[in-house]
Amino acid sequence: MLKKAQRIERIFAPSELSGFNESHCIHLPVAFIYELTFADSLNAVLDTVAKWVGQIFEADRASISIQKDAEHLQLYAINGNQAIPMEFALPIAKTFIGRAFESSKLMICDDTTVSDEEDCIMLSSGGLGSCMDAPMIHCGVTIGTLNVADTRTHCYSKAQAIQLQCLANWIALNIRLHLQLKEMNLLASTDELTGTFNRRRFTFESHENMQRFLQSRIPYVIGILDVDLFKDLNDRYGHTTGDQVLKDLTANVRQHIRKQDFLARIGGEEFAIILPACVAEEAEDIFERVRESIEQHTFSYDAHRIHYTVSIGYAEVGLDDQHYEDVFKRADKALYKAKANNRNQVCLGV
Ligand code: GH3
Ligand code: MG
Ligand code: MG
Repeated sequence: MLKKAQRIERIFAPSELSGFNESHCIHLPVAFIYELTFADSLNAVLDTVAKWVGQIFEADRASISIQKDAEHLQLYAINGNQAIPMEFALPIAKTFIGRAFESSKLMICDDTTVSDEEDCIMLSSGGLGSCMDAPMIHCGVTIGTLNVADTRTHCYSKAQAIQLQCLANWIALNIRLHLQLKEMNLLASTDELTGTFNRRRFTFESHENMQRFLQSRIPYVIGILDVDLFKDLNDRYGHTTGDQVLKDLTANVRQHIRKQDFLARIGGEEFAIILPACVAEEAEDIFERVRESIEQHTFSYDAHRIHYTVSIGYAEVGLDDQHYEDVFKRADKALYKAKANNRNQVCLGV
């Protein structure tokens, strides 16, 4: 995709950049490898790689992109020139970097000023004349790209292409392991049916809130929400419909809690809500809004129009509390009170 009929790009398949004999090698700064041993998260790995790749290539910009979704790449680390900012999601179909990713081939743009692809236009506007993007491939899967750019045009050699592709291959394994770890952590803390957090994550989050309270006296509230007479609902409409009600309930609750609040399914039809930096009076408003909105809402599913209600018990952390379970127990007692009091209500535990 060129504005002018001029050769401004070079494309190398992985086979053209590998398959050498044993005497071929690349030289890396010892400090790079040493620093990498301290990278304890995906972001730390990416930052370290971007920094050192920038130095090795004396690049004016070094960056790493990872596939975000079917249509986009996301930048995760940038060293140097910020012509394309971190938050910019790069459309795979409309960018030079996207073509390198999709074709799993290293690509060099020798002159960004004569390209009409979105990323090259941005690089060119930011003063960068050429770029080189290498696919990061592991076990046949391309997970993203490792990229360098320079203010000069026509500055990258094939020897540098071999070096960048070699680094991209080497780092791909490290990055993929971190991505898998991230995914596994998410799976281990998510409830499959509702997509909310699960009980395991609730325990962790409660503990964190308690630590913040003990250290800095930042208050928090725990609420326990339980669907009223859910057994009857299951008996009447069936278990599958019951499951859909739990999903519907989740969507409803999410609309009424704040961004910083935490929602987890901790049992069959029981949810916990943590409201950080919140006191009982504010919590009452929030929980009352949740309760009322569910009471007024009709859920349509499988030709049924279903009404259901919830009871909520909640408690604020107090000066005598040492463990989050102290708060949880008061919220649980308040939930029992709400149930005993004819359900469909919000009760404070004291
Ligand atoms: P209460 O108002 O006192 O809370 O009454 P309840 O009927 O909601 O409470 P009970 O503990 O008697 O029954 C809870 C029911 O929730 C029984 C169980 O079959 C159902 N349940 C638990 N987990 C799930 C689930 O994942 N899906 C569905 N559909 N039902 C579930
Ligand atoms: Mg119930
Ligand atoms: Mg229950």
